[in-house]
Amino acid sequence: METDGTEVPDSISAVIPGWFSEISPMWPGEAHSLKVEKILFQGKSDYQDVMIFQASDAPYSSTYGKVLVLDGVIQLTERDECAYQEMITHLPLCSIPNPKKVLVIGGGDGGVLREVARHSSVEQVDICEIDKMVVDVSKQFFPDVAIGYEDPRVTLHIGDGVAFLKAVPEGTYDAIIVDSSDPIGPAQELFEKPFFQSVARALRPGGVVCTQAESIWLHMHIIEDIVANCRHIFKGSVNYAWTTVPTYPSGVIGFMLCSTEGPHVDFKHPVNPIDAHESTNKSGRPLKFYNSEIHTAAFCLPSFAKRLIESK
Ligand code: SAM
Repeated sequence: METDGTEVPDSISAVIPGWFSEISPMWPGEAHSLKVEKILFQGKSDYQDVMIFQASDAPYSSTYGKVLVLDGVIQLTERDECAYQEMITHLPLCSIPNPKKVLVIGGGDGGVLREVARHSSVEQVDICEIDKMVVDVSKQFFPDVAIGYEDPRVTLHIGDGVAFLKAVPEGTYDAIIVDSSDPIGPAQELFEKPFFQSVARALRPGGVVCTQAESIWLHMHIIEDIVANCRHIFKGSVNYAWTTVPTYPSGVIGFMLCSTEGPHVDFKHPVNPIDAHESTNKSGRPLKFYNSEIHTAAFCLPSFAKRLIESK
């Protein structure tokens, strides 16, 4: 349902009138707020509340542009989505030579697809997104993100990623990218052991997975469980990386990178760097955030996180 932008839902006016405040039990006692210029879309799918608003200009910096919100949680903004989409995609794909078959779980906005398309070695990209409404609104309101769907190598499957992976033949993919929302709501099972086991089974020997792995400032308890499960399940490399995304809670987001038993994968030193000609995508858009130096730096962790993650 499109709106004329006049009615402001409670989650917006509850804290500061005319502002969107990201209030969630996932980060109790704090909330990031953005000034709302106009509500562009509000809907409720079978899985979640979907809202899109135009953030107003920030006085001393460019605006965040349009913002996608699912169940009251910011998923992406036009200004800083590059950091997340480029890192969650190129950290795994630049770590193995010639990735050919790639699976994306979640990622309905199409941004990861846009980044996977930069790798000319890729021949097949499957994406399994549970909520068609996310795909539809992304194509309508975020064309520079959803451009990923225009690549002929992409096949979209609408469904639950947990069920999709169970049906995948063993050893199918070179890389799996789990671009999920938080472990509340439809993505909850994507953080649990059985799901990671199905990911490992779907990867070829030496295949890699990169999954959204929350914030070291807010979710070390969740990260501990993810790391423990991954060390038990993946017999290749298991590493945690992180990056900055201003509009994510605490301003950072992490990634769990694992490889299955087989050819060694050194995630910290990209063997398949995206060279100049591949760093522009279909629309001619150059990489905005990722490069090989920031790839390696992403694995340098603060001591509190390094100690805990290495102890698992
Ligand atoms: N790519 C975004 C960004 O730049 O930050 C954020 C993540 S994306 C919007 C998260 C997606 O995961 C949502 O579209 C959500 O519908 C999808 N999702 C959640 N649970 C899922 C499941 N079990 N299977 C498939 N997709 C799921």
